[in-house]
Order: sequence, then structure tokens, then C-alpha cells
Amino acid sequence: MGENLYIHVPFCSSKCDYCAFYSIVTADNMQITQWLDKIIEQLDSAELEKPLETIFIGGGTPTALSEANLECLFKALCRFTGNNTEISIESNPETISSEKIELLAKYITRISMGVQTFNPQLREKLGRRCSDQAINSAIKCIRAVPNLKFNIDLIYAIPGQTLEDWESDLNRVIASGVDHVSCYNLSIEEGTALVARLGENNTIDDELSIKMWNTANKILSAAGMPRYEISNYAADENQCRHNRNIWYGGRYLGLGPAASSFNGRDRWTQVYSLSEWLEDQAAELDIIASEARINEIFSIGLRTVAGWKREQWERVYTLKYCLRSWAELTATINVLPQPVRNLFKVTENQIKLTKHGLNFWDLVAEALI
Ligand code: SF4
Repeated sequence: MGENLYIHVPFCSSKCDYCAFYSIVTADNMQITQWLDKIIEQLDSAELEKPLETIFIGGGTPTALSEANLECLFKALCRFTGNNTEISIESNPETISSEKIELLAKYITRISMGVQTFNPQLREKLGRRCSDQAINSAIKCIRAVPNLKFNIDLIYAIPGQTLEDWESDLNRVIASGVDHVSCYNLSIEEGTALVARLGENNTIDDELSIKMWNTANKILSAAGMPRYEISNYAADENQCRHNRNIWYGGRYLGLGPAASSFNGRDRWTQVYSLSEWLEDQAAELDIIASEARINEIFSIGLRTVAGWKREQWERVYTLKYCLRSWAELTATINVLPQPVRNLFKVTENQIKLTKHGLNFWDLVAEALI
């Protein structure tokens, strides 16, 4: 099942205060070996198309794994890859060394590194344990590898962050030589250490946050990396194919605790617990009516700046699943309340959100789903 594979590595070297992802801090090699053995066992029995279009190794911090464990994982993945398979890995600066990058360079085509902010005071505010030196050294190691696509993740709207601080982060990320940037609005999630420290409502005002979002597009576009999705910026040839496939309704298999899968109709998510996942605890199923699913897929595609092109919709859905024609899709928009309809730009062959509409994607998704 699936043209795309996601592997969740649930280990981190420390826990960031804002983090709501499933990850554990462990130095227990036994746990890591059990996780790896099970992933390899599941790969052996997985029904995957060969070669896969994309593989995304996320987490957690995949580069927290030792070189020996990473090599083991990549060797198990080799039989699913072809010349055109995009292979991405997420990383953190403190787990990158020149030896690790040298090993990764044999297998991957794309690396994504979480910096969040180059400003040490703001990093401290986020509870992100990483030094300037680790960031600079990791960037140097990654840039030394030719032809490796390179993304950096940034967070904005951090309490106390000014527009000037944000512009400085954007200029630093450009100077790092990346070809892709992801910029996420800080979300202070319930249950995190950050909410306990700052309180749920300790966010910067919406107006400044929108200004920061607009500034990101202005500065990154001028550097050749225009926005192509609400939070992502890159030239066409450097866009993340894995994420694009997911946004446009592609099928994917997710392995590892907390990993989700989608077979074109149903979704399922593995348990958020390493020990229960190791004990084969059943995944949580998300089975909904096909009409509701198609609305969900339609809205996720609207997160992209280009939205849906007619031939793309027809290729993915009308032909494959015979669920809704382009004309019916257009009709879906016509029955939405006028203020939501105004957020769309609909032409004969394309349905997308306006730039203003992208800011209100949540409202659009709510209206559609
Ligand atoms: S490195 Fe990423 S996954 Fe790990 S704790 Fe920090 S934000 Fe969460």
C-alpha cells in the first residue's frame, strides 16, 4: 500500500518545552534496538509500491540515532528506492557531525533541520536546548555535501519576538545557504512545558503574527524561495515532494509509534506509546464517509498557494476513486456562506485560496469539513 513511506523515530536528545509531538528522551539502547528491529520487521512484510516515490524519516529526532543504527535502517529501505525516490530526514543541530552527514549523504536526497530561531534568548524562551556553535557547525557540515536539498525550520510569533528579530532570523536562514524554509507560527499547546511556564494565552497579537507571515514571503521570495504552502517556501524544483504528495491526497504508509497512514479512503494512527506499539497495540482507525473524506482532502490541498488544478484533481480523484467531478467540486464552493466563498479564487481550471484566504485556511477547512 502506498507510494510514500513515513517512518517515525520517537527519540530525542532532550525535550523542547513547546513540543507536542510524540517523542521520548532515552539513552536506553535496548529500547532503540527494539524499535529498529520492529521497523525492519514491518518493512519486510509491508505492501509497498517499488520504487517508492518518497520516504520521509521524521520524529522525534532521527539523527539522534547512532550511525550504526541509521545505516541498518537505510539498508532495510534500499530495496524500496529508485533513482527518483526523494529520501528526507529530519535532524537537529546538536545531533549532526561530519561523520554522520557523510553516512547520510550515501542514502538521502534531502535534510531538514530544526533551528526554530537563531536568537539565543528566544531559543531559551522556547525551551530549546541548542547552542549557536552547534547550529553553525551543523550548517557547515550539511553545506559541504553537494546536491543535498536543505531545509531549515523556523518558528515565529514567539512571545517577546519583534518584527526586527524575525527579519534577522529570515536573513540568517538565507545566509545559511538553504533551498527550502518552513516557518511555523508558534502554537502553545496544552500539556507542554511551555504552557506550564508561560500560560496558554501568552502569545503575540494576531496583527504582528500576520505581519511576520507576510514578511517571511517578502524576504524569502526575494531570495528565490516563494511561499508554496501556508508554512513552506522554496523554488518549484526544491519543494518537498513527500509533503506535496500528502497535501494532494497521496497514499502513504506510516511506521512507528504515532505514525499515521492513508490508503486513499481511510486513515489510521499508531499508538502514542513506544512500549504499546512494541506490543502490537492496535492502531486508531479514522473511517469516515467518502463525501467527508473528499472534503477533507480538498481542504488540505487548499493549503498550497496553487490550490487544485483541474487535471490534478481529475488524475488523483475522479479517475482513481470516481468520487467527485470538477463541476461538482466547484458546486461545493457555491453553497458555502458568502464570507467563506470570498476567500476563494475559482477559474475554469483552478480552485485556490486568495492570499488573504490562505490566512483563514482554518475557517475554510471548518466550513468544508
Ligand atoms: S527536537 Fe523536535 S520532536 Fe524532539 S522535543 Fe524538540 S521539537 Fe519535539
